Amino acid sequence: MTAVEHELLREQAFVDGRWVDADAGETFPVVNPATGEVIAEVPRMGGEETRRALAAAERALPEWKHRTAKDRARVLRRLADLMLEREDALARLMVVEQGKPLAEARVEVAYAASFYEWFGEEAKRVYGDTIPTPWPDKRILVTKEAVGVAAGITPWNFPAAMPTRKSAPALAAGCTVVLKPSEVAPLNAFALADAIHDAGLPPGVFNLVSGHGTVVGEAMATHPDVDMVSFTGSTRAGKRVAELAAHSVKRVALELGGKSASIVLDDADLAAAVRGTVNACFLNSGQTCSAHTRLLVPESRYDEAAKLAVEAAAGFTVGDPFGGSAKLGPLISAVQRERVRDYIRTGIDEGAELLIGGAEAPEGLDKGYYVKPTVFGRVDPHATIAQEEIFGPVLAIITYKDEDDAVRIANDTLYGLAGGVWSKDPEHALSVARRLRTGQVDINGAPFNFLAPFGGFKQSGRGRELGREGLEEYLEYKAIQIKPEAPSV
Ligand code: NAD
Repeated sequence: MTAVEHELLREQAFVDGRWVDADAGETFPVVNPATGEVIAEVPRMGGEETRRALAAAERALPEWKHRTAKDRARVLRRLADLMLEREDALARLMVVEQGKPLAEARVEVAYAASFYEWFGEEAKRVYGDTIPTPWPDKRILVTKEAVGVAAGITPWNFPAAMPTRKSAPALAAGCTVVLKPSEVAPLNAFALADAIHDAGLPPGVFNLVSGHGTVVGEAMATHPDVDMVSFTGSTRAGKRVAELAAHSVKRVALELGGKSASIVLDDADLAAAVRGTVNACFLNSGQTCSAHTRLLVPESRYDEAAKLAVEAAAGFTVGDPFGGSAKLGPLISAVQRERVRDYIRTGIDEGAELLIGGAEAPEGLDKGYYVKPTVFGRVDPHATIAQEEIFGPVLAIITYKDEDDAVRIANDTLYGLAGGVWSKDPEHALSVARRLRTGQVDINGAPFNFLAPFGGFKQSGRGRELGREGLEEYLEYKAIQIKPEAPSV
């Protein structure tokens, strides 16, 4: 393997403070999406190994939960520092397992590490709060405590940030964690376990199992000793997790798919809006749940918008994610590439105008799972490519008649994760943002901010991750009622 430091390439899972293989010694391969080469073989674990990891988390819970939030924050800060010291190596590991350009991978590692520091500090503030009782004449003590054992299941699109986004609030709240990263890109989670080990978290507080969703993920969602399951991934698998978790009445948080709309109002700076939307669509080769995949423009400005979108898309050079000049790396796998190409063919068959890109492989890239940056114009709002999550670099431009029409089109999918509104008048933008049925709206390309709660309306999910609200997901409230002493006579 090129350009990756071998000492960070862990090929074992991490349970109860030890590096372990699958009981049967079975493994599955991890493939570099830019070359198609196998870069690692990792343990294919089953239900028994998963239950052992859950038991370790259960044993570690009382001690970790009863530490002070301040003490936990100190350990988490050390962990964030270790990740930052290893930033370059972790980013390189991400490029070979997931394919995003190196510069994007570096940003992700820094962002992933920051969760540990931020949630550690936030938990100090949350635990420090006293909750005023609404009945001052009654003696009621309302306390907060960790939910218990938290199971995290993550996808492959952000191999560093997804595992830390789940484990940071859970650990800061005092939960113990069993994490199952995606089988497609698990290596960053292994490297994270390495840093966790070095940061001095007690054995069993964080455990990592590797394997397939239908085996390991379902064992986690079903196990009666798991108090909460936090899932990020497809809506299909999220529904299955919620169904399984219902039998033991676990708390369930779901971060699922999206089909977010970027609405360009008639008073917007059109060039900035189109460029910003193309960037928000093609980040991470379009493999982002909150990607702005539908660009909604007034009918009268369609021609201009289409021209600008083509120019912006043409600037997304496809190529080697280590290459420096590439803005668009490969998709994660051959399967994903075929899915995206099928959607492009469907877009053409259903009558949308192909403005740039297409289903053929980009020129000169005969190896790796590359797809051309693709923009469709005059897409029917009910067409397949305007309704379904594609998870690739494909933008659909849709025209609208008036503002009510724009809001109706934006809200007319099964999803409700994110969106954007563009206008030179902030009040105007805000009035439209309030009408969108989505968990997040960016005005004029405002960047993602993890101080804010993130999550979906409708079939984009349940609950919120990030921000104080994301920490609260891992807390239980307890009311202790104290019988007043009898008045002395
Ligand atoms: P996926 O649903 O195939 O897999 C996600 C995780 O779930 C993996 O770890 C997988 O092993 C596990 N899994 C699969 N089936 C399972 C089952 N039956 N029981 C338990 N676990 C199971 O999704 P993916 O292909 O890895 O990721 C892409 C999807 O994730 C997209 O739909 C995307 O929108 C979504 N996503 C959402 C967010 C968000 O925050 N809303 C963020 C990133 C990705």
